[in-house]
Amino acid sequence: MGKVLGSDSIYDELDIPTVINATGTKTRIGGSRIRPEAVEAMNRAADSFVSISDLQATASEHITEITGSEAGYVASGASACLVLGAAAALAGDDVSRMNSLPNTDGFPDEIIMPRTHRTGYDHAFRTAGATIVDVGTNDKHLGTGSTNTEPWEIESAITEETAAIGYVEKSYTEPPLEVVTEIAHEHDVPVIVDAAAELPPKENFSRFVDAGADLVVFSGGKAIRGPQTTGILAGRQDLIESVALQHLDMHAASEVWDPPSNLIDPNRVNRVPRQGIGRSMKVGKEELVGLLVALDEFIAEDYTEKRREWRQTAEYIADTLENLDGFVSEITPGNDVSVSPEVTVRIDPAAAALSATELTGALRSETPRVFVGADRLDEDTITINPMCLEGDEVEYFLDRIRAHATS
Ligand SMILES: *Cc1c(COP(=O)(O)O)cnc(C)c1O
Repeated sequence: MGKVLGSDSIYDELDIPTVINATGTKTRIGGSRIRPEAVEAMNRAADSFVSISDLQATASEHITEITGSEAGYVASGASACLVLGAAAALAGDDVSRMNSLPNTDGFPDEIIMPRTHRTGYDHAFRTAGATIVDVGTNDKHLGTGSTNTEPWEIESAITEETAAIGYVEKSYTEPPLEVVTEIAHEHDVPVIVDAAAELPPKENFSRFVDAGADLVVFSGGKAIRGPQTTGILAGRQDLIESVALQHLDMHAASEVWDPPSNLIDPNRVNRVPRQGIGRSMKVGKEELVGLLVALDEFIAEDYTEKRREWRQTAEYIADTLENLDGFVSEITPGNDVSVSPEVTVRIDPAAAALSATELTGALRSETPRVFVGADRLDEDTITINPMCLEGDEVEYFLDRIRAHATS
């Protein structure tokens, strides 16, 4: 495998420069390389019509098996899944509430979040109509105290207006998920967990469900390497039912409405809702099938072997770059901010031919564009993630850095 540089690309035909990706699974440069098995399955899925309800019912069974949850669902990305999860928490099985979202006049609409869990992605909760109530402080991050958000702060924020608790899963997030779900369940409030990028290891599929999460969200387009426009929701049957009712195409005559029985109980829902807030986040049959096949492949993959390969590539890159004037590289083990080991390279602006910022900018404006991680430029540091580098891209990438650093 491995893409050969200079081979024909559709982007050449469109006159758009391609990207050599040394920064990992980033949506803005296309996420990950979708698995060839998934692409093939998508081609085949395009050939026939199928009821999307049937397909979502089967997806639910797959997701249930993998995660141990009661039910599962697929939408157009982890972010879309967060919108739908919030919509389910806000509306429950009340069709008139579904109909009014994102307007929440007259019913509870607050999602409590530890302040240290706030991210740009929580816009998704607000998209559904929720108001985010963040609690606690940033003391630990700022060094102004020893604690982040405390469990009692979450508990005391729960009121009649609370619809859910939002939790962003990282190996270092506090308080632990088990503690938060216990508090939430004492008050009958669901916990929605954003675990979009927390795969691999595949054990994480069930970890957060086991820790009591009512809904967990994973991205289908990151390490799973399914279609970019897919995300997975796993969780409680009643919440997934609400998700399905707010996402499936509802242009259905009530006399012939035949919802998937493992997702929707028509006895609980006394009428056919209208198109819901999720309609703008639909997934096609091709993406849905592509995701299911990618999931199987992801689960069959030997992650230990993958990590060993990534580690080897990272070490090779680190060793090579060490030889350049002013470059000091170090390997971070992964499992922390990235699922793969990463190389961090500090570039001493006084000793190197150019600064980290200049190098990053120069690489990006080449053809093909070369992307390195730029989140730490303020520390004169670039990061290199080997996950998305294949075949001769590693050598090409090192050559380009060398060209700038020695000129
Ligand atoms: C990537 C990411 C998302 C969004 O995932 P998509 O599948 O691209 O919608 C949401 N939350 C977190 C924490 C992420 O890392």
